[in-house]
Amino acid sequence: LTSREFHPDDTVVDVDGVKIGDGSFVTMAGPCSIEGLDQIRICAEMAKKGGAKILRGGAFKPRTSPYAFQGLGEEGLKQIRQAADEYDMKVITEVMDEGHIDMVAAYSDIIQIGARNMQNFKLLSAVGKTGKPIGLKRGISGTISEWLNAAEYIAVEGKSPIIFIERGIRTYETATRNTFDLSAVPIIKKFSHFPIIVDPSHGTGVWDLVGPMARAGVASGADGMIVEIHPDPKNAWSDGPQSLNEKTYVQMMKEVEILVDAM
Ligand code: PEP
Ligand code: MN
Repeated sequence: LTSREFHPDDTVVDVDGVKIGDGSFVTMAGPCSIEGLDQIRICAEMAKKGGAKILRGGAFKPRTSPYAFQGLGEEGLKQIRQAADEYDMKVITEVMDEGHIDMVAAYSDIIQIGARNMQNFKLLSAVGKTGKPIGLKRGISGTISEWLNAAEYIAVEGKSPIIFIERGIRTYETATRNTFDLSAVPIIKKFSHFPIIVDPSHGTGVWDLVGPMARAGVASGADGMIVEIHPDPKNAWSDGPQSLNEKTYVQMMKEVEILVDAM
């Protein structure tokens, strides 16, 4: 169902009026974690200023350490919904637990499946029943074939369209957090009719590599990107080292726009 053989034309995913996969380049921007209403509002204002149409932010965080901040939960979901509505933006946020799907769906426009859950098949089937667009991150060590099969678990439920998100994979390289696999963009486009966006933030883990890789994402033919921003990256509760501040984010968006117009 996800394959191009089955469906030759590109599928355009309509996120409550924001179209992904129609030839435009859609940016989703926001903090790694929702830290409070003031912070997510500032992030929404920043995101909007750069031209993003969709606000990102995690309320349920898949942290490597159980002692790290785990997210604000439903309180955070309420805050991101409020901030997005104030700035006329859509919301993407992650769900980690089947039991939270209805709650997350009530506050968001796109449900994000994180890299660590790419092969959580019960979670995939369950989000596939919501009818909401699903942002499916590539697994940390996920092959393209495994990723396409994961999408199939969602598609087989017959309700939710999929947005693939390339967020880098684990390799032997240590200069970056992950190895950003841009070849995934034309490969997914060859094999699937669903759109693919890039995540240069998790793809590199280093803020000053985000702009160059975002531009490369445009050149690769991606349908958009998801990027982490924060008013004060040094004091972010998660993923500060890969987050752009207002100045670097707005600058990147100007450069991205020039490339998008030239494509
Ligand atoms: C995130 O988007 O903040 C996140 C946890 O991403 P990933 O699942 O790609 O690690
Ligand atoms: Mn993050």
